[in-house]
Amino acid sequence: MNRDEDIDIAELMRSRPHLFILGAGATKATIPNGDKYGRQSPVMENFMHEIGIDGLLEGVKLKTKSKNIEAIYSELSTKPEYASVVSKIEDGIVAHYRQMQIPDAPTLYDYLILSLRHKDCIATFNWDPLLIQAYNRVNKITSDLPQMLFLHSSVEVGVCEDCYHYEPFRNRYCSICGQPLSSPKLLYPVKHKDYSQDIFIKDSWDAFSGYLERACIVTIWGYSAPKSDSEAKKMMLKAFSSTFRKLDQIEVIDIAEEEKLYKTWSSFAKKTNYHLNIYTSLMDTFIGEFPRRSVEGYVKRNIEGWWGGSTLTLKECKSFDELAHLFAPLLANESNDNFCVI
Ligand SMILES: [Zn+2]
Repeated sequence: MNRDEDIDIAELMRSRPHLFILGAGATKATIPNGDKYGRQSPVMENFMHEIGIDGLLEGVKLKTKSKNIEAIYSELSTKPEYASVVSKIEDGIVAHYRQMQIPDAPTLYDYLILSLRHKDCIATFNWDPLLIQAYNRVNKITSDLPQMLFLHSSVEVGVCEDCYHYEPFRNRYCSICGQPLSSPKLLYPVKHKDYSQDIFIKDSWDAFSGYLERACIVTIWGYSAPKSDSEAKKMMLKAFSSTFRKLDQIEVIDIAEEEKLYKTWSSFAKKTNYHLNIYTSLMDTFIGEFPRRSVEGYVKRNIEGWWGGSTLTLKECKSFDELAHLFAPLLANESNDNFCVI
């Protein structure tokens, strides 16, 4: 390969997105002590008890002995006689998540959003409103922020049915045409999920596939790809495998056992020549070392053979002023179209 071809490959790779895929573990890590008012993000196991709606099951005859919402919801949703119980469970879930408020100080979600740019994407399986709440505040530091996709919808997404504009549900009215916003139905935990049930979810999955095809780095944070999401995993692998991946990178952020994580993601890692790194913290990943320059840093080191290190790395900040100050040199360069690693 001659030098010109090297430069072309590097240039091409730098233009590619960094894709983050978020699961329940990401929200858990973002609010380790609960939300602003100490409310915990519930886990699937014992979910109904944790959000205080287990009383809805009084007098309901269930085959499953499991306390897992997936097993309970899956069974009830096939029984027409329990339609009203199902609808009350759905209302309880939405009400619980609508109350959640991100803590006042910067969180990992704030760092994550600010560390990516417009060409990048965060796709989340989570219903909670915290990612959108974080987006709305770091948006005051810069408006060059990643795309967000809600693969199971979210309680904070509002859609205008007149002009198909998306914005936070709490704005209540469409900022383009003034019609009241509606909230797309959440994709509930049944075994056979219908990803085309609603235009919002279908559009999100189509866009997600596009990012999986093009991303240079894919980071999977706190998403365990449970059995009930086997269809989702199949769709993800199909999109990921559709192009040449040997130079690309996969990162996994999770506190589960490494061996288990390797097993879960080996079919993806194989495509990248096993470029798979496992971390327990967001701060240790590529965006931790190269905030807003993750793909640039990756290419500089792995394609162009650079041995240096970034001088501006992600660190915990006590306030949004401190966070804005940390990112200021990068944002100043960006205003001159300079996206080099510093
Ligand atoms: Zn509208």
